[in-house]
Amino acid sequence: MNTKKFDPASNIQALKQFGEFGGVNPSITDSSTFTFMTAKAMLDTFHGEAEGCFLYSRHWNPSNKYLAEALAAMEGTENAWVTGSGMAAITTVLLQLCNSGDHILSSITTYGGTYAFLKNYLPKFNIDVTFVDITDLEAVKNAIRPNTKLIYTETMTNPLLQISDIPALSKISKKHGIQLVVDNTFTPMIFAPYLLGADIVVYSMTKYINGKNDTIAGAICASNQFINDISNVNDGTAMLLGPVLDPLRSSSILKNLHTLHIRMKQHSKNALYLAERFKEIGLKFNYPGMTTHPQHALMKSMMNEEFGFGGMIAIDMATAERAATLMESMQLKNVGYHAVSLGYFKTLFSNSGKSTSSEVPENVQNEMGMSPGLVRFSVGLDNDIEATFQLIKESLDEF
Ligand SMILES: *Cc1c(COP(=O)(O)O)cnc(C)c1O
Repeated sequence: MNTKKFDPASNIQALKQFGEFGGVNPSITDSSTFTFMTAKAMLDTFHGEAEGCFLYSRHWNPSNKYLAEALAAMEGTENAWVTGSGMAAITTVLLQLCNSGDHILSSITTYGGTYAFLKNYLPKFNIDVTFVDITDLEAVKNAIRPNTKLIYTETMTNPLLQISDIPALSKISKKHGIQLVVDNTFTPMIFAPYLLGADIVVYSMTKYINGKNDTIAGAICASNQFINDISNVNDGTAMLLGPVLDPLRSSSILKNLHTLHIRMKQHSKNALYLAERFKEIGLKFNYPGMTTHPQHALMKSMMNEEFGFGGMIAIDMATAERAATLMESMQLKNVGYHAVSLGYFKTLFSNSGKSTSSEVPENVQNEMGMSPGLVRFSVGLDNDIEATFQLIKESLDEF
């Protein structure tokens, strides 16, 4: 691959994005529409021929452009586009790439909303989906059909924390002339899926990228061609379905993006610490930073080591009842909050089978190896992680 180390944080830092009055943060453009000095300039902009002109904020807004530029710098893509949610980013990409009669190959473990969209929503457009174990490359190859348009996966899957072999999946997709779409929500900066061979990278910025749990947002990072296609005024999915992010939010997310590298390192450091302590006390759990994780070596071969193995741990409490008891106890001790979502400064935990993966039928949960007692643990930015461990241990000792 590339010999020069890819440095997403420095690439963001290298941008010079000033406000027009010299403000160190770019000005917020809270305008839905834009004035033109000449009739010709407006027409040219409609035809996509006037570089640098803004038309209407469902299409592009300067504040969104600043954030998109920073995200593209982070991913190493030519361009990006920002959406009002992670689901908006995912659905925009899938609806842009697929027509009626097409086929999608997806990892069986994905975010519950993504699974529901693929499984329950796309059939009404006559788009067929096959779910496979994405770590089984033979199964992936065998599931490709002549009408397959894309392979969809998450770099680190939700909630099983499997790692997708992006270079290998890229090779398969290129061989068949199809697209590889990767959701990198759990692992920004840790993985650069585009540079590993993905065609399009999507994010729920609600999670680590924003990191504050004060908003819902998403992003699409891709080639200029793809971003132009989705924002085309005649037939672009983003332009016509209107999932755009509000510019006020873009502005606040951009400021949070500038601390993402520091946060990712701390999330990873704390998670690895807890994982090692969990191992010592014989707790059943899953964390890609442990050498016993089935894709640990694969992760090491793909990752940006300085950002660690991520902040997500899956603890297996065997039953939903035991998971509930643990979570309620941990919340009472203020280990963190019993809440869905992740990538927050406080620790968050939820039982996947009863929350963010409840869209996945129980028999499918079993099939993919998801325990009914799986507690998805998003480790926070705690300064004293040993103290946090002691609180978790107190909760575990109550069993
Ligand atoms: C949360 C999440 C989504 C959906 O994002 P929203 O911002 O809630 O729409 C998609 N993929 C993954 C992996 C997620 O964790």
